[in-house]
Amino acid sequence: MQEPTITEIYDEQEEESYRDHISTVDESGKRVWLYPKKPKGRFTNYRQLVSYLLLGILFAGPFIKIGGQPLLKFDIIDREFVIFGQVFWPQDFHLAVIGMITTIVFIILFAVVYGRIFCGWICPQTIFMEHVFRQVEFLIEGDYMKQKKLDKQEWNTEKVVKKTSKHVIFVLISAFIMHTFVAYIVGVDDLWSMIGNGPAEEPLAFVAIVVFTGLFYGVFSKMREQVCTTICPYGRLQGVLLDKQSIVVAYDHVRGESRGKIRKGEDRVEKGLGDCIDCHQCVYVCPTGIDIRNGTQLECVNCTACIDACDSIMDKIGKPRGLVRYASEDNIAENKPSRFTARMKAYTTVLFILIGVLVTLLYLRSDVETTILRTPGMMYQEREDGTITNLYQLKMVNKTAEDMPIELKLEGIDGKLEMVGDNLMLKKQDLGEGAFFIVLDPSSLTKMSTDIKIGVYSKGEQIETVKTRFLGPAI
Ligand code: SF4
Ligand code: SF4
Repeated sequence: MQEPTITEIYDEQEEESYRDHISTVDESGKRVWLYPKKPKGRFTNYRQLVSYLLLGILFAGPFIKIGGQPLLKFDIIDREFVIFGQVFWPQDFHLAVIGMITTIVFIILFAVVYGRIFCGWICPQTIFMEHVFRQVEFLIEGDYMKQKKLDKQEWNTEKVVKKTSKHVIFVLISAFIMHTFVAYIVGVDDLWSMIGNGPAEEPLAFVAIVVFTGLFYGVFSKMREQVCTTICPYGRLQGVLLDKQSIVVAYDHVRGESRGKIRKGEDRVEKGLGDCIDCHQCVYVCPTGIDIRNGTQLECVNCTACIDACDSIMDKIGKPRGLVRYASEDNIAENKPSRFTARMKAYTTVLFILIGVLVTLLYLRSDVETTILRTPGMMYQEREDGTITNLYQLKMVNKTAEDMPIELKLEGIDGKLEMVGDNLMLKKQDLGEGAFFIVLDPSSLTKMSTDIKIGVYSKGEQIETVKTRFLGPAI
């Protein structure tokens, strides 16, 4: 037997049942499959524009190059990360950590002030679900009533053709998106060569793409809104992030209640009725199956579909738009304007401090990073001519897009620096290693451990000074 739909369940529900269980699970604990109505309206149009822009950036990302580098690359295998053409190395890990904390604080601050605006407008789950996979579904199976009818009907040619073509397209889209993600990890050139080599030569990559394509397909064909309502930690955090001043998609209960069906010639004011005509259009379009008139709920991803649905009803009955709109609880209940609360101020201060630290560190980030360490386990050595030597290991990272010949000089003390082998030629975006001796006359040593400075030069220009220690005999 066909499972009841959310609309059927909702119609049978007690008014308060939304407090006992989430909208997509019935009283016996079974999943309720949602058939949201196709939303239409100005917010839907704006959201579509934002989605297409973000999807465009996502798919173009690995192909766009800045200074020979991709716009974005996250090569976790070779530990090379490119953000807007700038190469970041594991040595820049602290920047990644601060960047991540800044992003999280930014999202939290945004949630405190604007609720789940991120979920509705920017989150990849919503974008892929509502603007890619759901659109394919609408195109092939039609709007919600037709989808319901198709699911209820016996298997026939129409159902087989529609279901098969929908799922084949879902798999193809998932595979395309997974290939894009792989391009972000290994780069476009390596992705092309992997595809050219085929599964026999690239079994690991092939298995990974098949597995992740399957997962992606599963999320958007089966899991859907469950990701937002039960899995996503950001969604779960809303309970502690939102307060009465947070601006969320909200129903104006002061204006809307008491709700009641519209009847020709009836004076609603006289009857004590508000502007809500109880048409359920805001419920039918909801992709998480809730009724916004029950107040802010954890399931609401602030997708604005109910705003558009209600606005179109208000237009039809000649009432002002905005019965469902972006507003805070205080805006609606007490007719108060939005306030910048102490919590908002605190998060904003933390955010500005973090942005300041991040910008300073990015500004101070050097193009070349040098690590000089005395060779572990080796003490000083005395040469026949009486001079003392220490052996050092040199590691350098060239973060620029140019090859750099490197020359080291001992600074501020008489002595010699002898490279083991040739001077280092540091390739662009590469790591270079070498070894060298520092040779000092014992007369310049006054203690067992002496601080020394080594200048790092390229093409005659000093690019860095590194401090280290020189060990010698006790005086
Ligand atoms: S209640 Fe409105 S904004 Fe929230 S998820 Fe449903 S349709 Fe979207
Ligand atoms: S769409 Fe507007 S009028 Fe219709 S039920 Fe929802 S809030 Fe009421």
